[in-house]
Amino acid sequence: MTEMTISKTITLANGVEMPRIGYGVFRMKEHDVCVQGVTEALKAGYRAIDTAAIYQNEEAVGEAIKASGIARDELFITTKVWNADQGYDNTLKAFEQSLQKLGLDYVDLYLTHWPKPQLVDTYKAIERLYEEKLIRVPGVSNHHEHHLQQVFAEANVLPMVNQIECHPSLSQDALRAFCAEHNIAITAWAPLGTGIVFTHPVVKQLAEKYGKTVAQIVLRWHLEIGNIAIPKSVTPERIKENLDVFDFSLETDEVAAITALNTFHRTASDPDNFNF
Ligand code: NAD
Repeated sequence: MTEMTISKTITLANGVEMPRIGYGVFRMKEHDVCVQGVTEALKAGYRAIDTAAIYQNEEAVGEAIKASGIARDELFITTKVWNADQGYDNTLKAFEQSLQKLGLDYVDLYLTHWPKPQLVDTYKAIERLYEEKLIRVPGVSNHHEHHLQQVFAEANVLPMVNQIECHPSLSQDALRAFCAEHNIAITAWAPLGTGIVFTHPVVKQLAEKYGKTVAQIVLRWHLEIGNIAIPKSVTPERIKENLDVFDFSLETDEVAAITALNTFHRTASDPDNFNF
């Protein structure tokens, strides 16, 4: 049996607490849909929102946050610098714009969205934002080990989060182990992965055993292997369902059986080969 009680937050390298389940808002470009989704998520109890400049919904996220009346220090807001804005000066400018759109005076976590050739300069700007206390946590996204090594060679403060595609069809064992060694927490994007997982007998049987949905089994697997997960849904029932994963636990062999479903299948580009 694994540890029954996994706390709702994870302590990052600098002591900051980050919620283990956050609300992702990719493909919610329509203003009202995003405001409604974030409002629903905050009502359901989510305290972390994952957006990005390229999602074109930072204003909507900011609007929902403001209307919620929830104290700023109870929230954990992540955004990301887009590829076209990378480099030192451009990243500082892009951050300023994100801050304005969100209507905030700091963000909790700022990430390099994808590893472009300027990834080190981009990270140096993120490090400066951290020194200036405009962000609480510096991080990166879609960085393989060799990208992280480039950052390590120049950084004064190492990234504390790497947000990567991770789900049972792409369990990312090697990169997760490398990040764990360097005290870098993993946030799993596309945590529910592909439809394959939803129909897989291993996951379906566990859903029956625990009286949970397949999505909840997969999200609980993320927690058991130490991940933060940021599922996306605009359906109120699913929004609630995706957060309701703290009242049961999987056996060690059940966690291993889900991890063994790995087929190295990506739902999107490999960070070593993308054209955007
Ligand atoms: P996801 O795994 O969260 O969702 C996949 C699909 O599952 C969605 O279409 C959703 O409709 C469906 N779903 C959600 N809850 C469900 C439930 N309970 N039952 C059945 N189906 C359900 O994938 P995603 O949206 O690609 O990723 C989540 C978040 O990760 C994004 O919103 C974004 O914030 C982030 N993200 C980051 C990057 C990056 O490059 N850093 C890339 C993609 C996504």
